[in-house]
Amino acid sequence: MRTLTHLLSRLALVVACLSLVAPLQGAVVQGVRSYRAPDYTRLVFDLDGPLTYELSQQLEPATLVITLEGASFDGNFDNLSLAETPISSIGSSREPGGDLLVTLTLRAQVEPRSFTLGKNEQYGDRFVLDLYDVAGMTKAPDAETADPVATITSGLDDAGRRDIVVAISAGHGGDDPGAIGHGKLQEKNVTLALSRELARLIDAMPGYQSVLIRDGDYYVGLRQRTELGHKANADLYLAIHADAADNHEARGATVYALSERGATSEQARMLADKENNADLIGGIGTVSLGDKDAVLRSVLLDLSMTASVATSLEIGSALVQSLDKVTRLRRRNVEQAAFVELKSADIPSLLIEAGYITNAADAENLDSPQWRRRFAESLADGVATWFGKRPPRGTLIAWQQKHGTEGRRSMTSYVVQRGDALSVLAQRFDVSMDEIRRVNGLKHDAIQVGQTLKIPATLILREHKIERGETLSQIAFEYEVTLEAIRAVNELKSDTIRPGQILKIPTS
Ligand SMILES: [Zn+2]
Repeated sequence: MRTLTHLLSRLALVVACLSLVAPLQGAVVQGVRSYRAPDYTRLVFDLDGPLTYELSQQLEPATLVITLEGASFDGNFDNLSLAETPISSIGSSREPGGDLLVTLTLRAQVEPRSFTLGKNEQYGDRFVLDLYDVAGMTKAPDAETADPVATITSGLDDAGRRDIVVAISAGHGGDDPGAIGHGKLQEKNVTLALSRELARLIDAMPGYQSVLIRDGDYYVGLRQRTELGHKANADLYLAIHADAADNHEARGATVYALSERGATSEQARMLADKENNADLIGGIGTVSLGDKDAVLRSVLLDLSMTASVATSLEIGSALVQSLDKVTRLRRRNVEQAAFVELKSADIPSLLIEAGYITNAADAENLDSPQWRRRFAESLADGVATWFGKRPPRGTLIAWQQKHGTEGRRSMTSYVVQRGDALSVLAQRFDVSMDEIRRVNGLKHDAIQVGQTLKIPATLILREHKIERGETLSQIAFEYEVTLEAIRAVNELKSDTIRPGQILKIPTS
């Protein structure tokens, strides 16, 4: 008995001492991360528990003081990357009252937005501070983080026939790593690398232009992504992701379109939940989903989406067929699920899970630049195959189709050299891999040195039937070729032409 009383009194003393040292028992800042997006800078404070905070901004000199009530911080900000951000320096001090003051010295005017986030699967409690650039005050971000929409200024050819625009949305980013897989591989890094590769290949195809919705390690909200797609006037929106599953045997790629009515499978529904939840990390999803208008809007949106879902399914099939040649597929049909990111009323949209990051073999592929290239090539090929048949109005591809370049391509012969691959030849000769396979009747992609391949020629001859009243110079003008070129390919001795005569028209 005496021992117990003694123990209790000693415990009481210990408790009293503790409360003197840390009277508020506030949260501990365990670390700070920074991410630079094209239009804002995000600071994330990782905490061991919830806290309340206050912001105060001063314009001259430009500083922002964050009061984290009752918090403490033992570390420093030395490893925080402030390059390209409006923050010139950052420091902290502990108030006598026990609050932590974090002071940001700013080199440009910003518009701060802040919020706290509770624990989730990946992180503990967080305090998030977004510093939005104020136009004209911030120095231009580097090319890596430039506004993706600004990159499509050269989308028109000389005659005003526009490129087909493919928006590529690399999943996750910044403080949202996505799924973490085999060997600590992060989904956000895989999706960015794959997206950049795909963008490069799309840009290499004449008549096509890519727009990267995310081109760096920063967070972009799901709705903001589709907005960027709209701003870029995208003809197709491709969201790039990697799958994850508790069952590490699960592997293979899947192509998803939006479901008009629920998901096609339970698995699809669960995945949609997982990918959609990422939006909450940005703290925006909870707000915009909450109001009634948003619910009404989404109903209206669903009605107008039927047409683009049908198109999405068609394009998805082309992509599945193309991917089937280079990678293992989990499903050979286009799955459907309710992804927020695919809810773009008028842009055909697809979500591609390139493979399972939680499977050792898939993770190795996803981490391999060579594999990513093959995967991206087959996606680009699928895109070209579908748009080649159904080009949007006003595009160069539509114009070429109308003027009959398809199916009338002349062939050149090519002897395969050491180091050649089908993909390399396709790029060099500016034709799709599918086309080379088709004209040569290839069943697989292995080619041998010395083998002769037929290559659909890049110099295309079209035909023009002369109508009454037309002149040679008018025709040359219409097709944007020189008079000399028309004279040469038709072996014309004079410029006199007659109605009904058929002219060969060269293109470059
Ligand atoms: Zn994902």
